[in-house]
Amino acid sequence: MPVKPFEICPNCAGEGTVQLVSTTETRTVNKEDFEVPVDYFACQRCGESFQTLDMEDSLVRARELYRTRHGMVRPEQLTAWRKSLGLSQAELAAVLGWGVATVSRYENGKLQSDAHDKSMRMAMRSADTLIELVRSARGLPAQVRTRLMAELEKRAGSAALEKAFTSSARSAPGETIRLEKLEQLVLLLGEGEGVFVTKLNKLLFYSDFKHYQQHGRSLSGLAYERLPYGPVPSAFRLLFCLLEQRGVIEQVEVQVGSAEGTQVRPLRAADRNVFDEEELALLLAIKKRFAEMGANEISEASHREQAWIQTPMAALIDYRHAAALSF
Ligand SMILES: [Zn+2]
Repeated sequence: MPVKPFEICPNCAGEGTVQLVSTTETRTVNKEDFEVPVDYFACQRCGESFQTLDMEDSLVRARELYRTRHGMVRPEQLTAWRKSLGLSQAELAAVLGWGVATVSRYENGKLQSDAHDKSMRMAMRSADTLIELVRSARGLPAQVRTRLMAELEKRAGSAALEKAFTSSARSAPGETIRLEKLEQLVLLLGEGEGVFVTKLNKLLFYSDFKHYQQHGRSLSGLAYERLPYGPVPSAFRLLFCLLEQRGVIEQVEVQVGSAEGTQVRPLRAADRNVFDEEELALLLAIKKRFAEMGANEISEASHREQAWIQTPMAALIDYRHAAALSF
């Protein structure tokens, strides 16, 4: 039961004469009618009606229905987006070329114009559009502009790389590439002081093929190719550049004894929750098995696999070779 705030009618002082009324009413937004619920208190004695502040305004509800019907940006979406950019309401208004209080009004429920809705949606969807707006925004403090441009260019670069990777990487038959899992695989297999790219590629190959051998599907969803030094994940250079752009790993040119080449160094710990117990056990077993092997030794080991021997140079390796893995 809702609390009755009117024990005594504030109009006629009648005791217990005020009742809660729940009904619907028609509200009009931009010439469109919406039937919305409305609650109010009414006095049976004098006929006066009252609302309390916490009762939802039927016009607010009608605007919500209007936004839904027309696929428009909701106030809480606008707020979340603005906060993700680290902007104040006035700063975002400057970016969008609006009056200084406009963002504040929209976030508080005022219905946006069609033109403003369109520009908001375009800026939310396309990093390039937003970069152009920021570049040309008047009234945006120089510091804010510099910070925002750097952040947006980083995001756009990462989005472009992800697109390049997903459009050029080949997937295992009947599977899709699981990029988030792949990221954790790289972090887990590269844990420690870093790992040469040539070795990491083979660790990924063994992880995916061994999992395929046991469960009929790979871990990452990636296909592998035969290259001169052994099996490599499809589009692996783009993959490591993408992970570097995301700030997850760094790629460093190193010389260790007689070995030189590119090492992948994780910049954060792997999230082990991404893997189930069996997967984790498999990955740790593979890490352990190859722990003492350098890039050259693991390369030589991979050259003894049927997966390698039976595949022509630069061709995709058939996952059915997983059945004949050497361990
Ligand atoms: Zn009354």
